[in-house]
Amino acid sequence: MECPFCDASNLNLRKFYENGLFIALYNIRPVTEGHCLVIPKRHVESFISLNDEEKKGLSSFVGRSIFMALKFANAYQFDLTLQEGKDAGQSVSHTHLHIIPRKKDDFLSPKTRWLSVPEHDFGSVNPPLTKEETERIVKKLRLIAKEHAVQIETI
Ligand SMILES: [Zn+2]
Repeated sequence: MECPFCDASNLNLRKFYENGLFIALYNIRPVTEGHCLVIPKRHVESFISLNDEEKKGLSSFVGRSIFMALKFANAYQFDLTLQEGKDAGQSVSHTHLHIIPRKKDDFLSPKTRWLSVPEHDFGSVNPPLTKEETERIVKKLRLIAKEHAVQIETI
């Protein structure tokens, strides 16, 4: 089965930051402004199957990605979420962490149990971005990565 997170053209469109092990990319269907994903470059279905090197490098990479997502969204708070397995809502079988910038009164805020909101509810409020919208957003995120490179490397 084709994996969208191993597909070079999809990644070229969406990724805004990477190192030897991980990629940060913009979500196809953001639930809030700045909703990004962190994926391992290696195709790994389960988070538990990350190797030692990936486990060690993950928190720094996620921290950097959070920094950029929050700058982009002009936000200071966020959700960090992993959905492992179909029953938990994992839709792409290549493990990924969601970074979801949060603001007072945002789309998710009335729902304290937002994780249980059926996917079609998100779909109706948050349709998938067009290629042009994605390009515009990713361009801005890449600029943030470049402008703050020195600070990001300390995270
Ligand atoms: Zn994959």
